[in-house]
Amino acid sequence: MMNREKYSRQILFPPIGADGQEKLLESKAVILGCGALGTAQANALARAGVGTLRMVDRDFVEESNLQRQILYDEADARERLPKAIAAARKLQQINSDVQVEGVVEDVDNRNIEKLVAGFQVVLDATDNFEARYLLNDVSVKLALPWIYGAVVASYATTMTILPGSTACLACVFPSPPEGTYDTCDTVGVISPAVSWAAAIQVTEALKILLGRQQELHGAMLAYDIWTNQLQEVRPRRDPQCRVCGAREFAYLNRTGPIHTGLCGRDSVQIHPATSRQLDLAELKTRLEKFGRVRSNEFLLIFSVDAYELTIFPDGRAIVKGTHDPAVARSVYAKYIGA
Ligand SMILES: [Zn+2]
Repeated sequence: MMNREKYSRQILFPPIGADGQEKLLESKAVILGCGALGTAQANALARAGVGTLRMVDRDFVEESNLQRQILYDEADARERLPKAIAAARKLQQINSDVQVEGVVEDVDNRNIEKLVAGFQVVLDATDNFEARYLLNDVSVKLALPWIYGAVVASYATTMTILPGSTACLACVFPSPPEGTYDTCDTVGVISPAVSWAAAIQVTEALKILLGRQQELHGAMLAYDIWTNQLQEVRPRRDPQCRVCGAREFAYLNRTGPIHTGLCGRDSVQIHPATSRQLDLAELKTRLEKFGRVRSNEFLLIFSVDAYELTIFPDGRAIVKGTHDPAVARSVYAKYIGA
């Protein structure tokens, strides 16, 4: 039985109403990324009563996140909780009507279909174009709507992709747009710009979940919240588009090793060559001979020389102290294995 009091102000809003609220409570949304955008989106969707939320993130909470990643606090950073876990715990306290699942994984071409299948909408809270092209591939393949969002400095961009009816990301950006290499690494980001993008993305997600697709804004919106400049363009589908035209899913079907730098950090992420399950307790005992080891129930932190390795049970590691994948790979091989 729905708690009408909890959602009373939203039920008063005619496009939602009591029927819409029931619908939201039965809806399923997935958020890729639990950084600034992802936490703002999740906060709004959970409070709105979107019944099932899955949050996926590869990273752990650090002090420098707290300025803009609204679901985390200093204790989360001290404990180095994985972001997906810390976010899910906080959301469960905010609204117990919502089933929240925190998934600690790096989204890649091997797991993305499994992570998004069965959901009604995907909200983009990733921090790089490669991940977005991958999401665009899977969205077109599965006919699953997704909502693009990107924020750098005071500038935010968003677009809603309904496969088969709107332009897809590759129609608009056949290659990554200028400026996407400016990341929060180099130019920073302010939280009101994040809030603006998240607000539009969440509104679009609610329309999709309510079946009100005709009310979607239909544009590529870009807003600089500092200079107050708004751009709005109406992208057209490109019949020659490699993704939604030719259905060539280059990012989804790619093979080869993956290691990536991480936004805002002197770090490289390493994936094991073959998938494995590590026994973190055994690893801790072994690594204590070489350096300082700390752990919680989700990960292990190993400091050695100038490096700090955060190691997850699936064998993935974030190597801090270098930008060079070759260096990170060799540190990983030395202590954890090939
Ligand atoms: Zn396209």
